[in-house]
Amino acid sequence: MRSEPVLELQQLSHVYVNEKGASLAVERIELTVERGEFISLVGPSGCGKTTVLSLLAGLFPPTKGQVLLNGERVVGPSPKVGYMLQQDYLFPWRSIKENAAIGLEISGRKTEKSLQAVEKLLYELGLPDSSQKYPHELSGGMRQRVALARTLATEPEVLLLDEPFSALDLHIKLQLEDLVHQTLKRLGKTAVLVTHDLAEAAAMSDRVIVLGRNPGHIRREVVIPEDVRLASPMAARKLPGFQELFERLWLELDKEDNEGGKLGG
Ligand code: ADP
Ligand code: MG
Repeated sequence: MRSEPVLELQQLSHVYVNEKGASLAVERIELTVERGEFISLVGPSGCGKTTVLSLLAGLFPPTKGQVLLNGERVVGPSPKVGYMLQQDYLFPWRSIKENAAIGLEISGRKTEKSLQAVEKLLYELGLPDSSQKYPHELSGGMRQRVALARTLATEPEVLLLDEPFSALDLHIKLQLEDLVHQTLKRLGKTAVLVTHDLAEAAAMSDRVIVLGRNPGHIRREVVIPEDVRLASPMAARKLPGFQELFERLWLELDKEDNEGGKLGG
């Protein structure tokens, strides 16, 4: 397999400082993500998943260690990295097309051509007749598709996805998992997904990183078997080995909960 690191997390540690004092959120996170890879971060609430994504996005610098993007140190937000959240944060007064184009507008890249690309994206994401509509006219699942179009419109190399499906009804969530998986693979994007849904992590990823807490650290890395990886998330769930894979991940997390806050693994 070709190996070309896009993201390198090197000995990342982060301490939050506030009026209550200092707390170590994540400690010595070491991880390499290859181009085109789909990685999931799973772990109990408070284990540092969002902190790691924020560091990858360059929202604030790590207390120790560094993040490399294509071999270069991340020192702030970059157009090469797109972020998609649980909430869609669409502007109610802007049309769907104007919402999807906002990143282009902010970065001064809104042109006739890039707007055509936005229309195409909306079409490909199953929103062919929505571009002139407004957010309130769309369902939750459709709004998340717009959020995905908005993220993809600026053509980031890396997508950071923080629980983007968790507010959706189950069948919409499953449809959207398939759509996101298919779209990112087709475009050759690298993705880091945070989810507390182990089945989602197993069905969508090439690798699942299990984090533990107090402080956040990597407990285990589970490489997803090829048949599951090659199937769409929906089809993957029906494969014979899927339940076993799910149970393996479950066991890793369960171990963590029985750890009683002890350090290490
Ligand atoms: P997760 O996304 O896995 O739930 P977070 O990255 O949000 O975890 O949080 C990791 C730890 O850092 C938690 O203990 C949380 O309370 C703490 N934390 C997160 N954000 C802040 C902040 N802005 N200030 C202080 N502590 C924070
Ligand atoms: Mg979080």
